[in-house]
Amino acid sequence: MADVAVVGAGLIGLSIANELAARGADVTVFDRDEPARAASWAGAGMLAPFSEATADSDLLALCRRSLEAYPAFVADVQERSGVDVRLRFDGTLHAALDEADLGRLGVAAASARANGGDAMLLDRAEVLEREPFLAKHVAGGLFVANEAQVDNRRLGRALVGAARARGVRFERVAQLALACDARRVRGVRTPQGFAAASTVVNAAGAWAGALDGVPEHARVAVRPVAGEMLAIALPPSAIHALVWFGHRYLVPRDDARLLVGATVVERGFDARVTAAGVHDLLDAALAVAPALASFAVVETWAGLRPATPDGRPYIGPTALEGYVVASGHYRNGILLAPETAHAIAELIVSGRVPASIAPFAPGRVGSMKSNPLREGAAAAAKPAE
Ligand SMILES: Cc1cc2nc3c(=O)[nH]c(=O)nc-3n(C[C@H](O)[C@H](O)[C@H](O)COP(=O)(O)OP(=O)(O)OC[C@H]3O[C@@H](n4cnc5c(N)ncnc54)[C@H](O)[C@@H]3O)c2cc1C
Repeated sequence: MADVAVVGAGLIGLSIANELAARGADVTVFDRDEPARAASWAGAGMLAPFSEATADSDLLALCRRSLEAYPAFVADVQERSGVDVRLRFDGTLHAALDEADLGRLGVAAASARANGGDAMLLDRAEVLEREPFLAKHVAGGLFVANEAQVDNRRLGRALVGAARARGVRFERVAQLALACDARRVRGVRTPQGFAAASTVVNAAGAWAGALDGVPEHARVAVRPVAGEMLAIALPPSAIHALVWFGHRYLVPRDDARLLVGATVVERGFDARVTAAGVHDLLDAALAVAPALASFAVVETWAGLRPATPDGRPYIGPTALEGYVVASGHYRNGILLAPETAHAIAELIVSGRVPASIAPFAPGRVGSMKSNPLREGAAAAAKPAE
């Protein structure tokens, strides 16, 4: 059975490792940090393909398949790890604060329905009946019933536990480079030495374009897009479902924290929380739920989404034999983890590219543009001297 090195222990790399091990592969996961601490820890955990309103029908189809796969995916990792990842299928409410918002929600409702979303428009009274904590002056809303959320930090812990239980090894390495000859991958090189592998999976998230040792013809263009978030201490009964308003959202967690997200900022490998980011999030949150003003802000954080030039992730084999990429999931990496893992495991075990990932080939036309951030990325990826 295949021996596989997975580079990157985010939700994408962990899900792939777990799925491969379930199919009998010998897997080692390499990361320079603790597992599941980068974007996969920073994300909001929304499983919301219709609310993200992607206009890309291939990507939407992949997102829908992954949402459908979530209950079985979660049941497996929970059983193996004993960690409850709090998967909740309680839908998404989009709140309109004025007539212009309401008009946009009418269009969004039609598009969500056409794409398979179970969407219904609500008047003010219906919005407040569902979510009495919101501003009394809401103009109306849109409810998408078939969307969900997962606690992504718990999911990271659960996947590490499930993967370990299946025999996956974890190596923490200060530096890592792909090892290959002109024809194929041979493994990875780390300060601990050379580790042979017949397949190497690049699941390095926002850093996937900066992996050392990758020949030019097999490189992908991934860039970081920062997202800042904060959490407010709030009883779990105050807000019941995901609430979107414009480009911001509220995510109620079972642990009495309400997440407020997220900014979208292009500023390279910079995962600081800025005053402007916090201001933006609080301003938007207090407009839709003024009663939040008297509750405590208990946490702020930021992460780097892995973005690609055409908005599609890279999932599949490359021109270098044995070198596979699974990165660039941008705003949907938590949602897409089960389907990415399924497809990559299928590819590695059977040698065939599953039809579901054909549109996401790393070597697709237009995807191999040089990445202006790659040099900065390589510098940022190196540990401080
Ligand atoms: C604020 C925010 C909100 C989000 N909300 C959602 C959401 O609601 N729903 C959703 O589906 N998605 C959401 N996302 C997107 C989602 O979090 C990401 O798409 C997903 O986590 C990417 O997972 P990953 O495993 O590819 O990358 P990461 O989680 O970033 O993991 C990459 C790993 O690779 C390691 N690594 C990198 N380079 C190397 C190297 N050279 N050697 C060794 N290790 C290396 C890193 O240390 C890291 O552990 C959000 C993201 C952010 C930032």
